[in-house]
Amino acid sequence: MGRIHLLSEHVANKIAAGEVVERPASAVKELVENSLDAGSTRLKIQVEGGGKKLIQVSDNGCGMVRDDALLAFERHATSKIRDAEDLLDIHTLGFRGEALPSIASVSRLVLETRSPEEQGGTLLEIAGGKILRVEEAGLPQGTSVAVRDLFFNAPARRKFLKAETTELSHIASLVTHYALAHPDKHFELHSATHAMLVAAPVGSYSERVYQVFGPETLERLIPVAANMKLERVGIPEPPPWRRDENYAPRVPGDIRVHGFVSKPEVQKLNRNSIFIFVNGRLVRDRLIQHALTEAYRNILPPAVFPVVLLFIELPSEEVDANVHPSKVEVRFRQQTLVHDFVRDSARAALMKARPVPQFTREITAQPTAAPALTPSALLERSLGQPGVRDEFILEAPVLPAVNKRLQFTGEPIAVEVNPAVSGFGPVAAPALARVPGHADGCGNVLADEPQAVPNGLVLASLKPLGQVRDSFIVAVNPDGLWIIDQHVAHERILFEKILKERAQNQGLPQGQRLLMPLILELTAAQQAVFAEIFEELGRNGFEAELFGGRTLAVKTAPAGIESAQVGHMLPELLDRFQQEEQTLNLETIRTRIAATIACHAAIKVNMALEQNKMEWLVRELAKTDCPMSCPHGRPVVLRYSVNEIQRAFKRI
Ligand code: ADP
Ligand code: MG
Repeated sequence: MGRIHLLSEHVANKIAAGEVVERPASAVKELVENSLDAGSTRLKIQVEGGGKKLIQVSDNGCGMVRDDALLAFERHATSKIRDAEDLLDIHTLGFRGEALPSIASVSRLVLETRSPEEQGGTLLEIAGGKILRVEEAGLPQGTSVAVRDLFFNAPARRKFLKAETTELSHIASLVTHYALAHPDKHFELHSATHAMLVAAPVGSYSERVYQVFGPETLERLIPVAANMKLERVGIPEPPPWRRDENYAPRVPGDIRVHGFVSKPEVQKLNRNSIFIFVNGRLVRDRLIQHALTEAYRNILPPAVFPVVLLFIELPSEEVDANVHPSKVEVRFRQQTLVHDFVRDSARAALMKARPVPQFTREITAQPTAAPALTPSALLERSLGQPGVRDEFILEAPVLPAVNKRLQFTGEPIAVEVNPAVSGFGPVAAPALARVPGHADGCGNVLADEPQAVPNGLVLASLKPLGQVRDSFIVAVNPDGLWIIDQHVAHERILFEKILKERAQNQGLPQGQRLLMPLILELTAAQQAVFAEIFEELGRNGFEAELFGGRTLAVKTAPAGIESAQVGHMLPELLDRFQQEEQTLNLETIRTRIAATIACHAAIKVNMALEQNKMEWLVRELAKTDCPMSCPHGRPVVLRYSVNEIQRAFKRI
């Protein structure tokens, strides 16, 4: 029995139609989605010439009976929806019945398919939309679609295709991400010369990440998992007079988010490493991207992005998939709820993991534009080239020291950077094989490093030993050797303290009267911002008055800030707000003010601290929610783990 039917004109017209085949990767996307919709557990994708010469997708799904195989190439022929009502509740990746006819009209296509209902399979050959051959053929159950010479009859389109390697990398990226979204299925991607991806079914998403990208990537990711009951349904209920006797109110379901977000040490210059799946569909979504930016606020510096692989699952009627021609965008029916849920879940995961920046990694970490979680690494790996690995690099040969200025908020200080630890010098190949216990000629191998998740408790056990250049506190605990930037540590403590006090509305934070009012001349733009944040400034211990339009007299400033600092701080704060693209909400204003006060009130570098001060600082830092990075996203503490130390001493 055939399952495919033509949609009525009425339904077809409601479909956000458009060109589905722009490039080889879009054809691959449609074919892979069809295989997934057909319930396949094994998908094999073969491409040649970056997909321009050949794209073949084979699966072991439900296949098609002969009549369906023919019908599938009619426009708006689908087995997935029937009427306009179904468009509100789409359970499959495809639903428009457009992909196969579109692809067939611009290529030479061979379809081979067999449904378990029929003894023999069907072979269908089409070129430029014309059926050339229909035959019965002995075939295994499932479907294989081979698309040759894409755009052979549309030279203008063909000309716009990019180099083969570019097209191939788009295809590889796409297949990789569908493989990540379906760890229980077998995926293979082959180019003409080699296997680019072979992923056997595994039991979890993290195993799939490991399989595809290896242990280094997994190490830099923090798992996210959260679930929430929806309080109401997103689609409005029909009015009482339109409800028939079978009417039952819709039941709100659950929303679930799971996947991975990267540790703050991973920094990207664009959003190309953020992958979002909504009900199994890979989408670009500004709402979710915004939620992620919010989750990383004060953890990552502005204009730097994380690596994210996130799966959002919610009842299909809560998502409108019919808003974009290539189905790469969706619309949530309860936008704010989804936004806040994703933001809070990602934030909670980041807070819980409280990842410790690794010393060597932070040095080599540079924000890059190169997308992570993309198959460029995969291409390299499959070609047998070593990926870039963070080696422990203290072992590099001693080269003349170079001076590099490290920028601190406040005074910049010159710090000697040994190229051996800066990643500038060549990394020496390890001379000795790292056999556990190998170097143990005279000492004992240390007990295994405790693998506990670093958290406030770990920090609380830190014992400060002293300062390097009156700026960095050196401390130890059983986890290893730690270096704490005293300025940013104090900044983090103050920042959270101010925000907490403000949230609890605990009166006004102490302001202190300046000996003489400080007079500042504001620019027009600064005046505008001042007018907007004036009240909140007052609640943070500032007392300032504008007179004559542009002249500001500051009489009181938050305690702990020297009056000389106030003159820098207020204009800086006003300018920063001006650069904000989004409209100011109270939360942003509060956070900004808190970050600025914290930065200016915090102890500086180049300041000697007594033992009890250092202990206080470490103790207070341990109590913060996010002790590992400062409100501007820089690391606060760095750790040399026992493992790294042992490796450097060639003990393991
Ligand atoms: P849509 O996916 O929107 O329904 P397509 O043009 O992609 O439209 O496919 C048309 C129909 O062909 C599908 O509804 C499905 O019934 C059938 N079909 C396509 N690919 C496969 C496949 N790999 N296995 C089984 N059936 C398929
Ligand atoms: Mg389809």
